[in-house]
Amino acid sequence: MAEAGTLHDAFIDELRDAYDAEKQLTKALSQLAKAASNPKLREAFTTHLEETQGQVRRLEQVFDTLDERARGKRCDGIAGIIEEGKAIMEEELDDAAMDASLIAAGQRAEHYEMAAYGTLVAWANAMGHTEAAKLLQQTLDEEKAADKKLSDLAEGGINQSAADAAGGEQEDDEEEAEDEEEQPRSASPSGGRKASSAGKGSSSARTGRR
Ligand code: FE
Ligand code: ZN
Ligand code: FE
Repeated sequence: MAEAGTLHDAFIDELRDAYDAEKQLTKALSQLAKAASNPKLREAFTTHLEETQGQVRRLEQVFDTLDERARGKRCDGIAGIIEEGKAIMEEELDDAAMDASLIAAGQRAEHYEMAAYGTLVAWANAMGHTEAAKLLQQTLDEEKAADKKLSDLAEGGINQSAADAAGGEQEDDEEEAEDEEEQPRSASPSGGRKASSAGKGSSSARTGRR
C-alpha cells in the first residue's frame, strides 16, 4: 500500500498548480489587453502580464528553496476561468460593456489566485518554509493589487460609461422585467404575493429551481 502523502506533498502539488496557472495567464492577459478599448484598462492588463512573468520566475525560486524541480501540473480551475473569458471576448458588446466584462473576467482570475496564494503562504509558514513564504507573499500582494486596480477602473468610470451606453435600451429592459414577473418569487417564502397563484403541489417544485 502506498504511503499517505503529507502536507508537504500537497504543498508541492499546489505550487505546481500555481506554476501552470501563471503560465496559462500570461497568454490570457495578452488577449485581455488586446481586447480592451480603454487605454488605462489595456495598460493594467499589460502591467499585470509583466508581473505575471515575474511570478513565474518567483515560483521557480520557491521550488529552488525547497530543492524541488520547477514543474507545472495542469490547473483546471484557471483553465475554466480563461474559457469563460474567451467566451466573453466572442460576444458582440459595445466597447464599454466589453471593457466592463473583461474586468469581470480578469477579477475572477485574480480572486482564484488570491485564494491559491493565500493557502500557499499559510502552509509555507505552518511548515517553517520561511523563504518560500516570503516569496509567495510578494505574489499574493501583487494579485491583490491587480484586483484592486481592476475594481478602481470599473468603479472609476468604466461601469458608468457602460451603463450610460445602455441608457437607450429602456424598452428592452421593460420587456425583460415583464418576463421576470412571470418567474416565481423564489426569495420570498410561502406567503409571497405570487404564492397564491402557484398550483397545489407545484409550489415546492417551482421554488426548488433556484
Ligand atoms: Fe499571478
Ligand atoms: Zn488550479
Ligand atoms: Fe494575477
